[in-house]
Amino acid sequence: MALIVQKYGGTSVGNTDRIKNVAARVAKYRAQGDQIVVVVSAMSGVTDNLIKLAKEIMPLPSEREMDVLLATGEQTTIALTAIALHSLGLQAVSLTGAQAGILTDGVHTKAKIQNITPKQVHKLLDEGNVVIVAGFQGETPEGQITTLGRGGSDLTAIALAAALKADLCQIYTDVDGVYTADPRIVPALASSGAKVMQSRSVEFAKKFGVVFEVRSSLNDNPGTIVKEETANMEDVVIRGVSLDKNQAKVTLVGVHDRPGVAARIFKALGDATVNVDMIVQNVSHGTGTPATDISFTVDKPDLLKARKVIDGLTGEVGFGEIIAKEKIGKLSIVGVGMKSHSGVAAKMFESLAKEGVNIDMISTSEIKISVVIDLDKGESAMKAVHAAFLG
Ligand code: ADP
Ligand code: ASP
Ligand code: MG
Repeated sequence: MALIVQKYGGTSVGNTDRIKNVAARVAKYRAQGDQIVVVVSAMSGVTDNLIKLAKEIMPLPSEREMDVLLATGEQTTIALTAIALHSLGLQAVSLTGAQAGILTDGVHTKAKIQNITPKQVHKLLDEGNVVIVAGFQGETPEGQITTLGRGGSDLTAIALAAALKADLCQIYTDVDGVYTADPRIVPALASSGAKVMQSRSVEFAKKFGVVFEVRSSLNDNPGTIVKEETANMEDVVIRGVSLDKNQAKVTLVGVHDRPGVAARIFKALGDATVNVDMIVQNVSHGTGTPATDISFTVDKPDLLKARKVIDGLTGEVGFGEIIAKEKIGKLSIVGVGMKSHSGVAAKMFESLAKEGVNIDMISTSEIKISVVIDLDKGESAMKAVHAAFLG
């Protein structure tokens, strides 16, 4: 008898027929005698719609209230899934994140899991139930509802699999596995890549050695097993290309160029829990007080908050203007051995140049090279880079 954690994403539970389909899948595993914990997302479109409703009322709603609001999406799905299992004659109980023992810090809308005490889950499993847990949510030690950032149901599944020491963690979605690029943009590909799962959940899996499988809930094709790379680490291996359309770029023009200024800006953003990804600072320019331009990227939903924080620093940091650009894409190639192969960056930039794509910002790490480009060029750039490395 195996203990299996199965996560079903938004499209897999997008309507009641799909939820019945999930129940039928779970029933099949149950019939083999396996114990099943099901983690579900909100039905597709529900989370986006709830965000839209809140923003119709005010542009920067309270993050605590956003968590109370967004957690309802997953709460709807757990109950419907339990009902679907009951209709097949199976014993099933739904649990919110809090009831499943998922404890987080208090950073609303992007809380981090502190620990999981799955006592209740074990008890219900032992009593013969399928246990259905709401993805994407938890609670603070003070009992406040929190959410784990967009795509956070993946993290719930991986973290629960680790806490329960599950034998298998299956991530069911609407594609057959992990490809070298999003198959909606670059069709007909194979092997491994990025972006189908929340990146935090993949980091978590790596840290705790959780091996997981990404596969489709809509057919029986084998999926992709994701585990730690053990191939010859000296070789450069490009694993995939991804396009992140969810970042925005902020440029502060004419920032006073003196020690402590960058620290002040990014400390204030950090204190407001705005995640900053790429940062570029230009050389000083102008006469008189030296000034420089600083550009950085933030998650698009945090753009308004970032602007507010920066506006609050106007007197202290003394910059000319803030320029925000939402229509950007972050194109990345992901792999191993990048650092020791300088030709990789050149090859990427050449393929972009040939496609007439201008590079706005660049960042590199041992496993990734990312560039910020115009959103309009995102998909053609992605295809060109994919063709250069993996075509
Ligand atoms: P879910 O609701 O199941 O969590 P998501 O929409 O979050 O599903 O993720 C699945 C989608 O991810 C796919 O429909 C596909 O378009 C996209 N995707 C992006 N990059 C990849 C990739 N490298 N391999 C497979 N799918 C990808
Ligand atoms: N419902 C949440 C979202 O849309 C979490 C998830 O689907 O993983 O981001
Ligand atoms: Mg997802």
